[in-house]
Amino acid sequence: MRLPLLRGVNSPPAHSPPPPLPLLDEREGTPFVPPSAPAPTSREPLEDQYGRRIRYIRVSITDRCNLKCVYCTSQDGFDYVPKPEILSYEEILAIMSSLVPVGLEKVRITGGEPLVRRDVVELVRGLGKIGLERIALSTNGILLAPLVDELHAAGLNHLNVSLDTQDPDRFREITRGGKIEKVWQGIERALEVGVSSVKINCVLLKGVNDSDFVDMARIALRWPIAVRFIELMPLDHCGLPQAQHYVSAADVLSRIERELGKLEPIPAEVGRLDDGPASYYRLSERPEAKGTIGVITPQSHSFCSRCNRVRLSATGQLKLCLFGDEFVDLRAVVRRPGWTPDDLIALVRDALTRKPKENAGYKDFAMQMIGG
Ligand code: SAM
Repeated sequence: MRLPLLRGVNSPPAHSPPPPLPLLDEREGTPFVPPSAPAPTSREPLEDQYGRRIRYIRVSITDRCNLKCVYCTSQDGFDYVPKPEILSYEEILAIMSSLVPVGLEKVRITGGEPLVRRDVVELVRGLGKIGLERIALSTNGILLAPLVDELHAAGLNHLNVSLDTQDPDRFREITRGGKIEKVWQGIERALEVGVSSVKINCVLLKGVNDSDFVDMARIALRWPIAVRFIELMPLDHCGLPQAQHYVSAADVLSRIERELGKLEPIPAEVGRLDDGPASYYRLSERPEAKGTIGVITPQSHSFCSRCNRVRLSATGQLKLCLFGDEFVDLRAVVRRPGWTPDDLIALVRDALTRKPKENAGYKDFAMQMIGG
């Protein structure tokens, strides 16, 4: 018998409460195992039914954010989840340390905005002790400058900062009130303290920031930063129609080439942790360039075949695909007295037999709950 997969995690911000937790006693039988395959031992690496090794979890630690970016949320925002429903740091660490022995290598802390949650440095310190190869964090950068020294000392070495323009007024419009100086202070401080990988994520928005793309790419001339351009995903509840604002990655690459010279593809390191959804390029006619250019193409090119990740929502729902609406409830496991890591591993393994082969099509969803 298969364990039940729950449906509906992607609920866009219709402000409906999450579905009730399943009582573990209601789960039927033991984890599903294909009849012909030998039963996996509890320490074999996590793999889905298409042979994709799962090494990477993105963990949203809060649904709260200190900005309201026009492509991510609506002016009204949405009702935050009550705190008791959010996983504690102890619960997050318990889940992650259960999965390290079965191949988890990388954790990315995301949100909402992860730096608005108190004591995030303690979480990073805890993650630093469980044998992960890489601890990463995605942030809008507003609270980064005062925290980045401690975050780095605690073990954080990979930082993605969202920044869609270099123009202070446009930044304020896109983020509905953000101050760009704070973001730059954070980025500069991250480079000073020696965070080994700093990336900037810029969402492509026709009619909003399209006059900034080449200037954003110029950041890679001056700084050792990967500047990554992300195609807009249609989150309808934001009120920013994708049909009107979509720009393809191919379009931005040709604009950059026209202004800054040839872009030479950097081969992906297949099977490595960096083999994520981004394709990277060198500014080959600009030997002075310290950084690189990247594109992430959720719309124009699928990267599902090399997907090595799953996502844990702030409320403990493990999502198998950003765009699917299936999840399993890990919070129910770690809140059950007497649970063991093997319970958790069995549930995750079973869920992975149903990780979709590819993105099954876009549905509106609450990005703050999932963290991109
Ligand atoms: N607050 C953190 C941050 O700003 O990076 C983490 C959460 S944020 C939801 C994660 C990423 O999702 C950001 O880089 C953001 O630009 C991206 N994102 C949000 N909505 C998007 C959309 N509609 N299309 C493409 N990317 C989007």
